[in-house]
Amino acid sequence: MISRRALGGNRLWIGIKRPQSGLKLVDWCAMPELPEVETIVRGLQSHVAGDRILTVWAKIAATLTGTKILRVHRMGKHIVFDLAGKQSAGRAAEAQWIVHLGMTGRMLVCEPEAETVKHTHLTATLASGRELRFIDARMFGKLAVVMPATFDPGGVEPLAVDLGTFTGLFRGRKTPIKSALLNQKLLRGVGNIYADEALARVGIRPQRRAASISRADLQRLLGAIQAVLREAIELGGSSVSDYVGADGEEGFFQLQHRVYGREGEPCLVCRTPIRRLVIAGRSSHYCPKCQK
Ligand SMILES: [Zn+2]
Repeated sequence: MISRRALGGNRLWIGIKRPQSGLKLVDWCAMPELPEVETIVRGLQSHVAGDRILTVWAKIAATLTGTKILRVHRMGKHIVFDLAGKQSAGRAAEAQWIVHLGMTGRMLVCEPEAETVKHTHLTATLASGRELRFIDARMFGKLAVVMPATFDPGGVEPLAVDLGTFTGLFRGRKTPIKSALLNQKLLRGVGNIYADEALARVGIRPQRRAASISRADLQRLLGAIQAVLREAIELGGSSVSDYVGADGEEGFFQLQHRVYGREGEPCLVCRTPIRRLVIAGRSSHYCPKCQK
């Protein structure tokens, strides 16, 4: 849902909001994670699903032009547009347009007269009269077209995986549980913040060997991963999505972090200072007393 006020602003950002000035930098260095992508996808699904792409300005233009957007959904951290062909009136996806936001990618649904901002890499004119634009200052994002519609980013979906499959991912794995959670070939879309927060909720240290964790603890861990992702999605959804003013000054939604980015600050449970260590090149945060 988008308010009239938002549309009156002539542009609708489907993207990640910038941090408010009071937020620490560490809260912002993270790439868009699964909940952010899910929020963006919901915004896109409500605004462009059913619309038809008339013209595209980008290298992949020829494949996208004339297609109808059947559905916008998320696979891991990829935004997936299911597309029906130029002649087709059917409901089956014949191709998929894949967007990965990387670190700074944004998608914008706007009126054609809206100013074209710097780093606009794709503009799609839609049958509804609006435009869909992809903007990325640093170009770590990716655009691709997959035909036929068989895109598979690998790994299992953390919000949909069953317990047996989840526990099987870690069987015999000697790496720290934190690295296993970030391994996109195992689980897709669980990023650094949500891995740290989920481990804190179940009292497991990030450096614990994955294979040493009991099935009962893995079950609790899966519940915690799903809970933090769902809570973050809800926060994103409730901030309605994604609208920011012309220069994007509104707050960045996020969970109240218990450990992430809180090195040296007291644990919310036992007041022990939160520790930080680097695992697989990423900062990990934990309470040395509450997490074993
Ligand atoms: Zn503690």
